[in-house]
Amino acid sequence: MIPSVLPTYNRAPLAFVKGAGSWLETADGRRYLDMGAGIAVNALGHAAPELVAALTEQAQNLWHVSNLYQIPQQQALADALVEHSFADTVFFTNSGTEAAELAIKMARKYWAAKGEDRVEIITFDGAFHGRSTGAISAVPHSEKMVKGFGPMLPGFTQLPWGDHDALNAAVNDKTAAILIEPIQGEGGIRPVPDQCLKGLRDLCDSTGALLIFDEVQCGMGRTGRLFAHEWAGVTPDIMMVAKGIGGGFPLGAILATENAASGMTAGTHGSTYGGNPLGCAVGAKVMEIVSDPAFLDQVNAKAGFLRQKLEGLVASHPDTFEGVRGVGLMLGLKCKRAPTDLVDAAYQQNLLTVPAADNVLRLLPALNISEADLSEAVNRLDAAATQLES
Ligand SMILES: *Cc1c(COP(=O)(O)O)cnc(C)c1O
Repeated sequence: MIPSVLPTYNRAPLAFVKGAGSWLETADGRRYLDMGAGIAVNALGHAAPELVAALTEQAQNLWHVSNLYQIPQQQALADALVEHSFADTVFFTNSGTEAAELAIKMARKYWAAKGEDRVEIITFDGAFHGRSTGAISAVPHSEKMVKGFGPMLPGFTQLPWGDHDALNAAVNDKTAAILIEPIQGEGGIRPVPDQCLKGLRDLCDSTGALLIFDEVQCGMGRTGRLFAHEWAGVTPDIMMVAKGIGGGFPLGAILATENAASGMTAGTHGSTYGGNPLGCAVGAKVMEIVSDPAFLDQVNAKAGFLRQKLEGLVASHPDTFEGVRGVGLMLGLKCKRAPTDLVDAAYQQNLLTVPAADNVLRLLPALNISEADLSEAVNRLDAAATQLES
């Protein structure tokens, strides 16, 4: 008999009833150290007092009004995002996949509004942009995601990772946009080298194609900069953000330059919930905290601390781990065995981690985790690896 919850997830036999900071608690009082943060969502940990306050204050006044009206909380969050990024304008969604939908639509509309037939969007192997039909059509090579869900939307070309010749051959005067994660998350914490992001920018500038960065996982302070692309010194035309932006409240956004958004006039796109007062009140508080340079300095300090500990862990378990990769607090341990073995062994140590493709174990802790908790997490990973090796 099918479970009452559609069985699309292989769930661990764990249920949490309370969270505080980087710790989660089960009904019978077992405490787990959370190095997954809801897959990079709980950017400020669980039940962050500032977010609880922002949420409850807004909840007592106004939860939802339609986008038919002015929404000051939405305006404030959009202003903050524009002030701290390349973007001139923002549209709010409830998730990353909806942000992908608008990114695709906006890029095509840009060209249509100019009267040009440019609909092709270039993506890359290992990419993940969400689970809507549009987002899975963008990655036709991912059999797990697309098989049985056809027909896929036309107009996407997925290229091998790191193949510059294929890229130069594929981008032409039919290319609407190039869509890429500056650091692949689900694909196994694979950063795009800075010079390649620069090369993509140049290629887009010379062909007119729009550059879309998917920062759903790597954005919002995760890498120690507000947005990951800042490390490379290049900017996109359109950017998708979600996960960390709501700190656990479902929220996403599309950021764009005035030029890239020029096709999106009144009536061309919409969302019932996107940008509602409750979500944006929380998002504005997250943004206020995470965009503070002193906060980002702390993220970088913690990232350096964790990375060094992880290098030590890899050195002491050469049969289990191959190396550390990633940027900031978006780190991956390349494993010599299925990362799910390590995730399971870590559960035995009351430690939560997340698997990814390419045999990588992901560590995506809250950005405000303490160094003591980071040390404890590495000790528990050490115990998990030792247990697997025995
Ligand atoms: C999680 C993720 C998405 C999809 O976001 P949802 O909120 O699950 O729809 C898209 N892109 C990237 C890079 C992601 O990590």
